[in-house]
Amino acid sequence: MKRLTEAAALARLRRGKAAFQTHIKLNFEHAARACAACPTPGVCCTDAHFVNVHVTRLEAVAVRETIERTPRLDAAARRTVFTRARLAVARYKLSAAGDTFAQTYSCPLFAPGVGCLVHARAKPAPCVAHACYEDWRDVPPAALQWREESRIERLNEQAYGAAWAWLPLPLWLTLLDPSSDGTELARLTRLWSSRRHAPAHDRARPATRRSLPVVAF
Ligand code: SF4
Ligand code: SF4
Repeated sequence: MKRLTEAAALARLRRGKAAFQTHIKLNFEHAARACAACPTPGVCCTDAHFVNVHVTRLEAVAVRETIERTPRLDAAARRTVFTRARLAVARYKLSAAGDTFAQTYSCPLFAPGVGCLVHARAKPAPCVAHACYEDWRDVPPAALQWREESRIERLNEQAYGAAWAWLPLPLWLTLLDPSSDGTELARLTRLWSSRRHAPAHDRARPATRRSLPVVAF
């Protein structure tokens, strides 16, 4: 497999995510409920009993760069995002061990009144695919998300070899926190690098593979 620098993989990730987001928007979102009219805006991001969005190392780098560059946030607000991620890791006991898809949390990237802080530039694939639909037949096919996630996995392999994993989003944010000393990421990198294969999604366990809810109304 052709190796890529992180910067090159990041550029490809962004192009692919933008295309995926445009495809969902043009072909599916017209049938979805308008978030602006939602009686409980953001519940899809903050329901700690349900949200288990996972991202890869490369996506987490894209999230970190988006948070660091967005003009919406000043330095203190940027730090608050990483603090919220750290608090989520502690509160919901998020860990890289075991069945990580069973771990749920309230997403630290949701800002009341603003919405998803990475909506335009670094939104995770399940979040891009998610909306509230009245009719299940209007919901984007799961295969679209899987195809996007396979593409993301390949980019991670090209950038990091086996030294990455799908992890709960707040955990990755904490590992890549600019103020972190990098000890935990170095430990996990050694662990992942000792595996024979890169960690693709375990699609054989759909019962534990949840994404955001699709709410009928
Ligand atoms: S996706 Fe659904 S729950 Fe989330 S803000 Fe939009 S309408 Fe509300
Ligand atoms: S990444 Fe954005 S869209 Fe996804 S759960 Fe977090 S705030 Fe919501």
